[in-house]
Amino acid sequence: MSTPRGWVHQAALLKRGIRRCIKCKRLQKIDQFHKDRSNKSGVRNDCKKCVCRRRRLAYVKHPEKLLACTRRWRLAHLDKIAAYKRRERKERGDQVRLRERIYWSVNREKQRQKNRRSYRNAAR
Ligand SMILES: [Zn+2]
Repeated sequence: MSTPRGWVHQAALLKRGIRRCIKCKRLQKIDQFHKDRSNKSGVRNDCKKCVCRRRRLAYVKHPEKLLACTRRWRLAHLDKIAAYKRRERKERGDQVRLRERIYWSVNREKQRQKNRRSYRNAAR
């Protein structure tokens, strides 16, 4: 059985920590690809930029689908998220606090309106 030439080339590149994205066809360092244990090389075939772009487009088309997916993931990985938040706070406490303060000052009004709306609906 012969190995396809393209694959040999890919393997040679991979040894040097470089991979070609199958979407944008650019040669990039391995850290520009998401990890994927189901793949022989250990990383995805498309680069992080391409994955992000595709997800953004998918979000524009079907926001509710993507949000549901994120919600499911979040519920399944609550412990992981808690650990991540703990680590973040420990390593970059000041930055995190600042970010949270900005987030809440922007979203407080939104949150308040939402609460008011649901209260009104419940009263009806
Ligand atoms: Zn790409």
